[in-house]
Amino acid sequence: MFMEKFIAKKKYGQNFLTNESIINKIINSVDVNSDDLIIEIGPGKGALTSKLVTKGCQVLAFEIDLDTKPYLEKLNNLSVVYGDFLDLDLNQVLKKYKYNNVYIIANLPYYITTPIISKIIDSKINPKQLTLMVQKEVADRFSAKPGSRDYGYFTVKLNYFFNIRKLCDVKRQYFSPQPNVDSAVVIFESKEYDPNLYSKFDELITNSFKMKRKTLKNNLGADLFNKLLPELMNCGYGLDVRAEQIDLETYIKLAKLL
Ligand code: SAM
Repeated sequence: MFMEKFIAKKKYGQNFLTNESIINKIINSVDVNSDDLIIEIGPGKGALTSKLVTKGCQVLAFEIDLDTKPYLEKLNNLSVVYGDFLDLDLNQVLKKYKYNNVYIIANLPYYITTPIISKIIDSKINPKQLTLMVQKEVADRFSAKPGSRDYGYFTVKLNYFFNIRKLCDVKRQYFSPQPNVDSAVVIFESKEYDPNLYSKFDELITNSFKMKRKTLKNNLGADLFNKLLPELMNCGYGLDVRAEQIDLETYIKLAKLL
């Protein structure tokens, strides 16, 4: 079939993956059964999609760019919803599907990495695993340890829901067109968490990280800080502790006191 040359659109963060070995690594990171559902965000010209559809489960893709249609229409066993992933009602779309576990795969458009991940968490669809290509610096932030420069509000939030590990680094040369930054593939594996504690936990970490240079006491205010201090000390932290030094388990213990 004749296809016109595809001109990548910068505004949609289109950097198409061209390296076969990275494509295979991503595909092999997903271990699905026939009653599972794979969601791909931003299939583009189908570099990942063409292999995902051979995994023997349902595959649903969300793509904003209608010009990708000729590439995606060629693939069997694929449903595509065209539109902005950030605008659509994910739960409404998923009502049409019956599945056991949901897996999410995406070579993400970098300009909306955080909003997309936040939307997935907020939708409460509870994916079993996410395999995401993100900017390398962002990957480092996701898996940062307390006390490091990269450890912040979003790190703590993500680690409440997932165990996060880096699968591999990806050089910028492995994309077309080539982006200005290197990338990494990260895997988020769902873990046990208390859904009822989450709103208190989120309020606590939002306030704790409010002003980066301030101590926890300044960010939370003296009353709340004094209430939490015995538990903080129990966990080995002192009066001058800052939000970026505190680990996830301690934040969870503190949230239970609110
Ligand atoms: N998966 C393909 C690959 O690996 O070669 C393309 C990845 S490219 C980095 C990002 C893809 O996300 C593009 O196809 C782009 O059109 C799509 N995209 C960008 N913004 C989107 C949005 N808001 N909703 C859905 N898809 C979007």
